[in-house]
Amino acid sequence: MQIISDEYKLCYQLCGLEKVSNRAYVSHRLKKCDGYCVGKKSALIHNVKMLEGLSRLALKTWPYRGPLALIEKCRHNYIEKHLLIDNWCILGTADSAEEYVEILNKPPSPEIDRDIYKYLVSAIFSKNLQ
Ligand SMILES: [Zn+2]
Repeated sequence: MQIISDEYKLCYQLCGLEKVSNRAYVSHRLKKCDGYCVGKKSALIHNVKMLEGLSRLALKTWPYRGPLALIEKCRHNYIEKHLLIDNWCILGTADSAEEYVEILNKPPSPEIDRDIYKYLVSAIFSKNLQ
């Protein structure tokens, strides 16, 4: 939130990053805030900018109807590793497609790893998949 606030020159107080006080807020005095807390600009503009910043953090919609298998193949010894994913969550790994049913029948684990999410978004939306 602080990074977004600094980038968009939002108010730390309106973002909940700074305690409310009657005097000019610290971030405004430090020229980080455009003056929303002292009435120089409207809270509506502040909130629109804040939503714009937060929207960059929102998860992209899973672009498939169901799970996806990313298959990594070694050209030298033909070993494959299959990574089954659904809604950005890793369901499991397999050595072949025969193991998919077992993995898909397990209870889902809804954790999303930030680094894996970034990798998958890059791979899926840059169309590096074959
Ligand atoms: Zn402020």
